[in-house]
Amino acid sequence: MPSQHDDCLFCSIVREGTYVRKEKGFVAINDINPQAPVHVLVIPERHVDSFREIGEFPAREAKRMLEFVADTAREVGLTDYRVQVNVGPSAGQTIFHLHWHILGEGPKRDDLPAHAETAVVEL
Ligand code: 5GP
Ligand code: ZN
Repeated sequence: MPSQHDDCLFCSIVREGTYVRKEKGFVAINDINPQAPVHVLVIPERHVDSFREIGEFPAREAKRMLEFVADTAREVGLTDYRVQVNVGPSAGQTIFHLHWHILGEGPKRDDLPAHAETAVVEL
């Protein structure tokens, strides 16, 4: 396994968390405090403190990480979404292990199964 930090929350989650999705080197989890109807975090196993250290990833692994972000968004049903990386405390970073936020509104209404339709109430 690539570099890990004993006292890092996301290193622990990578080791023993429950995932939305997992692939060699990466996991996706639901954010504990979602800021959108769908809010997933993609976390690489390799510990780097922030996006500033992206150069520590071998090129192939960095490419796979981006593909994992795109594949995860698709698999959770998103076609349109935002990808966000907070870099440094004043930009909102609170966990110092690189991670990618995927934020979206959820599957389009037309894509939902019939039983998931919301009842229309006439006023
Ligand atoms: P940051 O603020 O560093 O960009 O993002 C950290 C994110 O991790 C926040 O959105 C926060 O809600 C989420 N988070 C913090 N602790 C936990 C946890 O124990 N489990 C999960 N699933 N998400 C967490
Ligand atoms: Zn870590």
